[in-house]
Amino acid sequence: MDILEELKKTRLMVLARGVQKDVLLKVALSVLALMPAENVQAFDSLTTRWTFGAHEPITMYRRKGVRTTGGIEGSSKWVASWLDWFDTESPKLMKELGLNWCHCRFYKGMGWEFEKRDFPNVKRFVDAAHANGVGTLAYIQFMTLYYENMLAEIPNLRDWAARDHEGNMMYYYGGGYYRWVPCISCDEWIDYLVPIMRFAVTEGGFDGVMFDNAFSRHCHCERCQRKFREHLAKLPNAAERFGFDDLRFALIPPDAALDAAEIKDALVQEWLFWRHGQMNDIFAKFRRELKKANPNAVLSCNSQGARNPRGMRGLCVNVPELLKNLDLYIAQNGDYPNYDPAKDQIRGRARILKIYRTMGVPAVALCDNDSSMTPEQEKFYLLPLVEDLVLGGMPTDRTIVSPGADCFYDKAKVERRRPLLKAFNDFVADKRAMLEAKPYEPVKLLFTPQATILSERCHRGLGVAEEICLRRHVPFGYLISRPDELAVPSDTQVIVISDQTCLSDFQRERLVAWAKAGGKMIVTGDSGRCDELNRQHMKNPFKAQLAGLANVVWRDEADAFKGVFDTSWVNKISAPKDCDRLVADLEKVGFTMPYELKNIPEWVMLEARAVGDGYALNFVNYCPSRPMEGIEVVAPGRTVTRTVPFGQNEAAPAIYQLFEVGAK
Ligand SMILES: [Zn+2]
Repeated sequence: MDILEELKKTRLMVLARGVQKDVLLKVALSVLALMPAENVQAFDSLTTRWTFGAHEPITMYRRKGVRTTGGIEGSSKWVASWLDWFDTESPKLMKELGLNWCHCRFYKGMGWEFEKRDFPNVKRFVDAAHANGVGTLAYIQFMTLYYENMLAEIPNLRDWAARDHEGNMMYYYGGGYYRWVPCISCDEWIDYLVPIMRFAVTEGGFDGVMFDNAFSRHCHCERCQRKFREHLAKLPNAAERFGFDDLRFALIPPDAALDAAEIKDALVQEWLFWRHGQMNDIFAKFRRELKKANPNAVLSCNSQGARNPRGMRGLCVNVPELLKNLDLYIAQNGDYPNYDPAKDQIRGRARILKIYRTMGVPAVALCDNDSSMTPEQEKFYLLPLVEDLVLGGMPTDRTIVSPGADCFYDKAKVERRRPLLKAFNDFVADKRAMLEAKPYEPVKLLFTPQATILSERCHRGLGVAEEICLRRHVPFGYLISRPDELAVPSDTQVIVISDQTCLSDFQRERLVAWAKAGGKMIVTGDSGRCDELNRQHMKNPFKAQLAGLANVVWRDEADAFKGVFDTSWVNKISAPKDCDRLVADLEKVGFTMPYELKNIPEWVMLEARAVGDGYALNFVNYCPSRPMEGIEVVAPGRTVTRTVPFGQNEAAPAIYQLFEVGAK
């Protein structure tokens, strides 16, 4: 391994510039220590089954009172006995059902002196889980200071809390007047969490930690103000970006400034970059401290989806950057896969699961409801498990070990799902070789997280290309790039740059070099018209650089959606106005698939894999009430075999079907 090459890939290169080579080597070695450790127990997404681990303490249930996490009636008389049952008995049930990983309550943000009283019970669960082969991560709340408890322990807790622009306390989003939000500039608070985290993976016996709500709000406190100005003072060429050099009196921008479709205000940009950097630094520190305490411990968190730039703006987190510090990612979302014929909207997690897979981070994309599934979802229970399976996520049942009307768990639900889980697991065991094969993703969509955060146009441009590829079954993946980092994966046949207006000089140069070496490329809209900071060039330099190349299609008119494109908690994504043009462009640059697909509805998703010289074509039906009849795969010179569709019941006869295309 070329250590300096590895070093170049990290932000520490900036810090290392200008230092002696031996110092550089030391820095490089410390960077390597931060890379995902090989000794961490590897997650096998084909055999891992995530489930609910009762991650809330009784105090949280009592304080909230209403029905909440896990379907628990918070004020009920039975919470304590249910938790008592859960700590001892639930792991046996998990084992019986083949469910083998979860996160469990440990620290909710109420003060460790208070919460550690519950630790003997928590330890009882951890021990019972391990005795039944169930791995456990310690739940640590990142975004809350429960001041009612915590002030007794930390008298200066107010200094740890975030303030709005008027100096008022900031509260947990979505309500919770008893939950202050911590200020992520407060080192004292971070240092408070570190020994708690270390305890979890030493005496606590946990296999790792899971920071929940790993994001923050935009704090306007004096400390953030001071630190932000210190950051601004170090920026080169301030006058060129901000109009003047002296930024000593700049104020943190108001939250409303984050709502602009195109963020061109340099101060707002810099504020976002700085906040994102703070979060990355905090998790890099957590990583160092965790691995020092227990090199095998898993570092994980639950944050926003990697394709939710509004969330990344508003909650101070750049997810693809954050992922670099993690062993496992939890991305809770409302996207239970389905298809709405009335709106012609497909809802699913293909985007995020593909991105996490591309980044090499195993992911639990929790898509179910907190406490229960609707009867409609229950009919298609296997659908999200199958979607996880084919896209590399961890199949998850988060609602099976939750109480029934008058019992610790709903026996009827368990008995209904038990044979389905068994059928699912048998299927995975049978098809393991195919499911382990490399994804076939010859078409790469350029995804620059920074561009999608700063530019709604870039976000939508990428989104419409994703949607067209999904609906037209184009085997696509991602070319994920930072303004100073772009490496084209070796399996790339075509790069699609879909109205990506924000490209750095470096990105353009790399892409142009690739095209000049014969790489096929489709560019639409006004891609490259601005730099990575959304600053406009007089003429589009990218277009001029690519002019005359026969292997490049440039189309001025960008693709667009018919209506809504919203990728927040629940995706709302309308159909594209025109799917044909991009497909025609792929033909124009000479891209052909080694098989021909016929009669595949747009709501059926294809996940293709290369198996030796052949292909495994996995079709997932987002509208399982409709059978998948008439699908045909034609591949002259190759054998094509199809499995019988894998379904659940008469209501969902065909959730999944596999076609195997043999070698030539
Ligand atoms: Zn602050």
